[in-house]
Amino acid sequence: MATDCSSEPALDARWKQSFRRRLLTWYDRHQRDLPWRRSQNPYRVWVSEVMLQQTQVETVKPYFRKFIKAFPSVKRLAAASEQDVLRLWEGLGYYRRARQLHAAAKIIVAEHGGHFPRDVNTLQTLPGIGRYTAGAIASIAFDERVPILETNTIRLLSRLIGYPDDPTKSAGQRLLWQTAEDVLPRKNIALFNQALMELGSLVCTPGSPQCEQCPVAKLCTAYADGSQSAIPRTGRKVNFISVAEAAVLINKQGKLLLRQCPEGQRWAGLWDFPRFEIVGEAPQFVHDELTKKVKEQIGLVVDPKELVKTIKHGVTRHRITLDCYTARYISGRISRRHGTALRWVRPAELGAFPLNSTGRQLANLAHLSMQNGS
Ligand code: SF4
Repeated sequence: MATDCSSEPALDARWKQSFRRRLLTWYDRHQRDLPWRRSQNPYRVWVSEVMLQQTQVETVKPYFRKFIKAFPSVKRLAAASEQDVLRLWEGLGYYRRARQLHAAAKIIVAEHGGHFPRDVNTLQTLPGIGRYTAGAIASIAFDERVPILETNTIRLLSRLIGYPDDPTKSAGQRLLWQTAEDVLPRKNIALFNQALMELGSLVCTPGSPQCEQCPVAKLCTAYADGSQSAIPRTGRKVNFISVAEAAVLINKQGKLLLRQCPEGQRWAGLWDFPRFEIVGEAPQFVHDELTKKVKEQIGLVVDPKELVKTIKHGVTRHRITLDCYTARYISGRISRRHGTALRWVRPAELGAFPLNSTGRQLANLAHLSMQNGS
């Protein structure tokens, strides 16, 4: 029976018992062998959960292995430089996650003696740890009886109880957190919560859930009334914004200018080539606009040359067309401006800097073309 938006989930004891048994039996047979599942170490659970936010499992695997190899403990992470942390995170995106992970590691070492708090409320005082991540660490690492709710379990639980409204709104969130708590068994919480996420991820998938293979199909409201494709109801459509930007590879005697993205801007802490939003389209306008912006914002006189590459990419709601130009340095000295660090870097040194993904593509291109002497 579909659940009314304002009502509490009506899961009786027999339903819950059957659900837990079916879910855990299925998980025992079908769970994936993932690198972060080989131990219940809270540090590894935490790193994996943060990496998995907004990122697919297959993408996370190599990053997780590299990260844990470089920083095998929370103490080692706390002692690392932010640049080293960002360099290892490079390509994973959402770099704020890495900076918060690093900041939280320092607090765990300074204020908790390097030991993870077990309690969800204390965990949530750490940077980047919200209710879900706190629940995941406490339940998976410490077997604490606390619920979790993330993308996969939101979808799974919404369908199970037949929740017809938008589950991201506050009424939906309240109901689903309550449901996630209601279905918890008394013990084996670590297994149970992982099993919930795994079923949502592998079987109760967004597009076409595999209901015929689902171990809990008999208990599922959406399956009974055929409403799987309508649940969960999605929120408002995202309106994308088109943006034109230009990046400049300014060459001064074989060195290229890099800038560090300042606090409060995209990619804060990472390095990039100078880049600007542009309005001109004809080559002469872009040349003049770039010359002016480099002078105003960096204090250098440069002569923009050829367009070497166009990269289309997305950042949150923005769909960016990035035209990348080479430019010849003419005059001027760099200094720290508006909180932005600037540095002349040899192409062979670019590998040591954490760059955003377009910056890395351009760095590889520049390194290659300068090696070939062009
Ligand atoms: S029966 Fe289908 S919709 Fe229901 S939980 Fe299983 S996979 Fe999801």
